[in-house]
Amino acid sequence: MILLIKRRWLIAGTAVVLAAVTLLCVRNVPSKEAFSALSDTRRPVVILDAGHGGEDGGAVSADGVAESQINLKIVQKTDLLLTFLGRDTLLTRSGEDAVYSPEAKTLREKKVSDLKNRVAMVNAAEDAVLISVHQNSLPVHPAVHGAQVFYNTILPADQMAQTIQSTLNGLINPGNDKAAKAIDGTIYLMKEITRPGILVECGFLSNQKETQQLQSDDYQSKLALAIVSGYLEYETNKG
Ligand SMILES: [Zn+2]
Repeated sequence: MILLIKRRWLIAGTAVVLAAVTLLCVRNVPSKEAFSALSDTRRPVVILDAGHGGEDGGAVSADGVAESQINLKIVQKTDLLLTFLGRDTLLTRSGEDAVYSPEAKTLREKKVSDLKNRVAMVNAAEDAVLISVHQNSLPVHPAVHGAQVFYNTILPADQMAQTIQSTLNGLINPGNDKAAKAIDGTIYLMKEITRPGILVECGFLSNQKETQQLQSDDYQSKLALAIVSGYLEYETNKG
């Protein structure tokens, strides 16, 4: 079973690598619409959420590296791969700024407005799944590292989380396997959305080595590749 799973995600991973290489080599990349037209079955929109943004940097490493920028880079790479593979995507934010409404003035108002707008975007999509990207931090245990996926209560978020965790374990967590887990019910975005949603904690900014890796373009690409490979595996499994 384990061998089978590993072989399957390797195949999915190879397909994504080939897609990525082709993307880098081909000058005239067909439009997103052209790829969508090739699709013979209706697939959900994949909403990609780069956690935090603007004044809200999220978790910050001891030397001042904030998660918001890392989240955005991983989301942009994931978007590039999924789009190339013909999936429809939406980004909750495509720049450094958070997505609060203009009437929000204080930091707290901005944070609340930002989260409400993200929830509204997800719930407005008729058929969608959410992949939210964050970085973790556990300063009291600086040795803890690795990527872990959490899922909300809307099925089949658990399946999506498990397949993406499996590819992350293979590519990012060798010798440090983690299990996908149900998310804490207090996480507003994941609690309020009415679509299947997962939150990927890509690594720990409290771990010095991992903080260095998370800032590297190659490592961010590897994370995006693992997320997309796992997503394709999920798509295949759920039929
Ligand atoms: Zn975060």
